[in-house]
Amino acid sequence: MKEQTKKGSIGVTSENIFPVIKKFLYSDHEIFLRELVSNAVDATQKLKTLSSVGEFKGELGDLTVRVSVDKKKKTLRISDRGIGMTSEEIERYINQIAFSGAEEFVEKYKNDAQAIIGHFGLGFYSSFMVAKKVEIFTRSYREGAQAMHWSCQGDPEFVLEETTKEDRGTEIVLHIDDENVEFLEESRISGLLRKYCRYLPVEIAFGKKKEWKDGKEEETDEDLIVNETQPLWTRKPADLKEEDYDTFYRELYPMSEDPLFHIHLNVDYPFNLTGVLYFPRIKNTIDLQRNKIQLYCNQVFVTDSVENIVPDYLSLLHGVIDSPDIPLNVSRSYLQSDGNVKKISGHITKKVADRLHEIFKQDRPSFEGKWDDLKIFVQYGMLSDEKFYERAEKFALLKNVDGKYFTLEEYKTLVGENQKDKNGDLIYLYATDTEAQYSYIESAKEKAYDVLLMNGQLDVHAISQLEQKLEKVRFVRVDSETVDKLIQKQEAKAVELSEEQRNALTAIFESQLPSMEKTNFIVSFEHLSPSANPLFITRSEFMRRMKEMSAMQGGMMAFYGEMPDSYNLVVNTTHPLVERLLKQAESDCAADLRPIQEERAAAEEERSTAEKAAKDAKDDTASKEALEAAKQKIDELRNREKERYKAFAETNPQVRQLVDLALLANNMLTGEALAKFVKRSVELL
Ligand code: ADP
Repeated sequence: MKEQTKKGSIGVTSENIFPVIKKFLYSDHEIFLRELVSNAVDATQKLKTLSSVGEFKGELGDLTVRVSVDKKKKTLRISDRGIGMTSEEIERYINQIAFSGAEEFVEKYKNDAQAIIGHFGLGFYSSFMVAKKVEIFTRSYREGAQAMHWSCQGDPEFVLEETTKEDRGTEIVLHIDDENVEFLEESRISGLLRKYCRYLPVEIAFGKKKEWKDGKEEETDEDLIVNETQPLWTRKPADLKEEDYDTFYRELYPMSEDPLFHIHLNVDYPFNLTGVLYFPRIKNTIDLQRNKIQLYCNQVFVTDSVENIVPDYLSLLHGVIDSPDIPLNVSRSYLQSDGNVKKISGHITKKVADRLHEIFKQDRPSFEGKWDDLKIFVQYGMLSDEKFYERAEKFALLKNVDGKYFTLEEYKTLVGENQKDKNGDLIYLYATDTEAQYSYIESAKEKAYDVLLMNGQLDVHAISQLEQKLEKVRFVRVDSETVDKLIQKQEAKAVELSEEQRNALTAIFESQLPSMEKTNFIVSFEHLSPSANPLFITRSEFMRRMKEMSAMQGGMMAFYGEMPDSYNLVVNTTHPLVERLLKQAESDCAADLRPIQEERAAAEEERSTAEKAAKDAKDDTASKEALEAAKQKIDELRNREKERYKAFAETNPQVRQLVDLALLANNMLTGEALAKFVKRSVELL
């Protein structure tokens, strides 16, 4: 038979493809191996199909795909015993590359090898990213097919000639170029096979199994198979046990805690998707970032950045998604608008919600046991996806400070009667720290109120969402008001203090408040029951939320973050200690205050005269000056009064003691102030 050698130009319609491959696809060089091995696997699968439908009648034999490196010859070989190619097929599939509008496209996606390779069906040509010469030895499965040899040196010229090849199938030989010698390292190749080919459906051999013999590692004759051909997600859930799922999880994420539970996905209409997702037990954020969902396409690993494919909140899950219907080889930005991707994302959301609901219904105690770990996913989902919120409403839980769990519905019923305020609003009380807010929690409980524990990372957002969703429900933190005001059932009783008395008590308590960095106190008065504490420290719900939001968001909100923390020092005017203190202050200070107060009364008189004069004679600088002087005088006198009260407070250890007790109940008494408090307490005893 006459040897036929064909020379020709590879059918690139636009510019030469090779510089593109070499230059632009730099960052993703390693994926050439995935492309070549999956071509080999595809060819093998096709042969199996042909055999099963009776179109191929020969022996299938050993179908292992083999990868090998020869460091001396600087070659990397990938061989299969699949369908092979005839001369015409090489012409059609290898030589003719659809390459229209190439320049424009390449310019647009030059940093996205996936997109370029996918767009042009360049899987095979990606080998030129790492090789200066590529050869194909192939013989088709068809009876009497002529074996062919194709070779190309990374330019549009190729050689196609007849050759002899005993075996059916294809062998690709890459002559690795000098810049890519890393791909001649066994460890590099086995790393890549593990990454991309670990779950391919045809056995892949790379080297031989090793054995320990006489303290040495020795090669055996047995092939080292690097992949598992039937990974868990491709099997029927009915054939699998819980352990199998756990084992697979550990295989994917070796150093992680066992997951909470799994969801086995299996869809074939309107798109194809299989996979297993796990709800992880999150110990720290490092795990969150390290362990990601892996995306496969027909068991070929594609990526572990699944943004745009699964909703954000589900990207916190772990596991595997496999779908031939996700357009993997297109650019990321394209994914968002893809109809299939949207459907897939919607489907996964539904599955996840259904599974949670199912566990909730079937085994509530176990669901509650896992809730603390699940909470963050569910809240994240509820916050970011309306559809998910609607589903999760039925199983999302609220936990109270005693560790009891309630659904939203149950909780509404629980507090419905007792926690309604005078406007008919339901008040959900919550604490963020059971230790620090202990005394507030206790006083709420004394009123038979229930207190929720909201100490999660997303609780601030969850609270705002629930307030919007649930009708007439407000969340109020237990320490944001005195207990009587937390849920205001009737108008608060008026405080029966004169202006002078208010000033006196304000001056007395203010003078004994410790100065703390970025912290303000405002003294206020309430008519509470005589058995309630004499002093409280509270922090308005509104101010605290503003600060919390600003800490999370920055930007405009940073303004609030810069503001000092503002607390209320609430004085219970009916408490006997307060009443006694006021009386004592009034009588102790009376003699000293009388002349000051008389002087102030005179100054106030002067002020109103001056005010009038200034108003009548519009431009009278003299009366304006008189007004200023009077005002200054009043301030000065007021300060002197304050000083006098301060002197009283200083000689009366009870004042400081009361202030410190209030601080203590709010976890705000520390360091020197705490030490002094202890000492003073002992002395008072
Ligand atoms: P794709 O795999 O995306 O079609 P490739 O450039 O990787 O693009 O391959 C082009 C075609 O060449 C394949 O569709 C297949 O028909 C053929 N081919 C590639 N590798 C093999 C192989 N190992 N055995 C048989 N045919 C192959």
